[in-house]
Amino acid sequence: MKQAKQQMRFLPTVFPKLKEVLLSYRMGMRITEVMVFDSSMYGKTGYYVCPRCKVTMEREFVSFCDRCGQRLDWNGYCRARVIYPGRARNDT
Ligand SMILES: [Zn+2]
Repeated sequence: MKQAKQQMRFLPTVFPKLKEVLLSYRMGMRITEVMVFDSSMYGKTGYYVCPRCKVTMEREFVSFCDRCGQRLDWNGYCRARVIYPGRARNDT
């Protein structure tokens, strides 16, 4: 009787933490902030902020952040908090 030993003992083990992080990139993070730049030329222009890397995005309603690759969830984007650059966040 043969024993099926040493069979696939080396399956890639993913650290739970890492798996969680990778999953969170795919799950979609909700847009919560929009940064408004006040320009004398163009008036007020709002740029949505990536919830992961906090970088303003040039385009709206993109599926993924072009910086960090975070999947974006645009549900509730219209309730995003307006923030202004160069001001303290608790200044509102
Ligand atoms: Zn990002």
